[in-house]
Amino acid sequence: MTDYIDPTVPSTETNGSPTESDRNSLSAGADGPLMLHDVRLVETLASFNRERVPERNPHAKGAGAFGTFTTTHDVSQYTRAAVFQQGAESETLLRFSTVAGEQGSPDTWRDVRGFSLRFYTSEGNLDIVGNNTPVFFLRDPMKFPHFIRSQKRLPNSGLRDNTMQWDFWTLNPETAHQVTYLMGDRGLPRSWREMNGYGSHTYAWINAAGERFWVKYHFISEQGVEVLSNDEAEKLAGSDAEYHRRDLFEAIDRQEFPRWKLSVQVMPFEEAKTYRINPFDLTKVWPHADYPLIPVGTLELNRNPENFFAQIEQAAFSPSNQVPGTGISPDKMLLGRVFAYPDAQRARIGTNYQQLDVNRPKNPTNSYTFDGNMTVSHSGAAPVYAPNSFGRPYADQTGPVENSWETDGDLVRSAYTLRADDDDFSQPGTLIREVYSQEQRDRLVETVAGALETVIEPVRSNAFQYWASIDAETGARIRAAVEANAVDTDPAPVGVGH
Ligand code: NDP
Repeated sequence: MTDYIDPTVPSTETNGSPTESDRNSLSAGADGPLMLHDVRLVETLASFNRERVPERNPHAKGAGAFGTFTTTHDVSQYTRAAVFQQGAESETLLRFSTVAGEQGSPDTWRDVRGFSLRFYTSEGNLDIVGNNTPVFFLRDPMKFPHFIRSQKRLPNSGLRDNTMQWDFWTLNPETAHQVTYLMGDRGLPRSWREMNGYGSHTYAWINAAGERFWVKYHFISEQGVEVLSNDEAEKLAGSDAEYHRRDLFEAIDRQEFPRWKLSVQVMPFEEAKTYRINPFDLTKVWPHADYPLIPVGTLELNRNPENFFAQIEQAAFSPSNQVPGTGISPDKMLLGRVFAYPDAQRARIGTNYQQLDVNRPKNPTNSYTFDGNMTVSHSGAAPVYAPNSFGRPYADQTGPVENSWETDGDLVRSAYTLRADDDDFSQPGTLIREVYSQEQRDRLVETVAGALETVIEPVRSNAFQYWASIDAETGARIRAAVEANAVDTDPAPVGVGH
């Protein structure tokens, strides 16, 4: 969009008056001092100093594109959301990212990839802010900042540190499933086009009769799932840090539009109360055999951003963006994110980030949020309070809400109540034994053993135990591979790491 700038007219000051020069500053004589009243120079330097907003923490490095989502199947028995009615087409924005790396870090470091999708629906923005994996490392948001710090940099040297990463993972065994997925082939996608996206959390769908269902979103790549080897990824990290960003932009430029098929797993509301696995635990999948994929529609990316900063860097996704017929669930991580994401956007971009073109809904809005820095949208002279006697509508529903569930009990600090088949190691064990091929298991062992090479005690021994708990044979092979290459395993003299 070029709403505020017309790049074809002669250069102007920001107040619209003609600019004298974009090339020479104003000085007292050709060799003399510069003038503070040189508005062009002052604005040029001042705006340069303010070009960046704080990068996201985490998911700083990424890129994205616009597209179209088309609902191809009838899922109206599960949701009344307009976006998911057969035949509906919605504009979308999808941003991919790595998690731990900063802006400028290589796209091909082993990491989970963000898959943040916005639907600009006729009923408001719906955001599914997921990853390229169906699970996550944690199930309680209290641990999230600790987790991210452990994956980033040491406080003294500013270096990344395998000991710190594995210390966190091994002391929090619920990470085992996601770590097994990450250390497997899918931890190094060949491109963003060639990976799946998952909503990961359990979300709610509600149909026109008010019946509630729990759903998991799966976006399966029509380009197939392709990966890089450790060697390829390492070389690319040095030779082309923007490998994935470039691939997506160039593919769309060539009119090669990537596509994903959206399917959902659906669990009836009542069944969730007694299902053998806690269906709201983000470290678990719902086995396909119990909840098969139900097709919904097709996502196609077909339009590159015109301005990376305005449309991608300032894109502000949040799982709190739900629409009628969709909703959240009692997943504790999701409940944490519903607060944390909008708060991160307020801190990163500013109070009125939702008024930016890329973030504003396409349908008319009439919210009682008011003023604040950088206000663009406003309601003129209409009352800014509710209720009012002057005709501005306000909402006043009472009683049970559409997106609801029952809850009871004392206020406690506790892990989820365990169900019959809830444990941290079964699903990652299944992934290794029943999904990975022998070659994939071999590569897993090699990758983990490589990552543990510089890890010091006691974390290294904890890691051997962790892998032995996931799968005895894999654990033994990892230990043997690390010990064959053993370097110094003494604890660090001070603090974490070296
Ligand atoms: P299934 O055999 O039905 O599903 C296995 C799934 O694993 C596949 O459908 C595929 O999902 C995914 N997959 C295939 N190759 C790999 C790989 N190299 N790395 C990671 N995932 C891969 O069994 P279940 O549904 O009972 O799940 C068994 C295990 O599979 C789970 O414990 C979980 O670790 C993993 N898994 C399960 C998913 C689910 O939602 N049930 C989704 C993804 C993985 P896809 O088609 O999504 O690529």
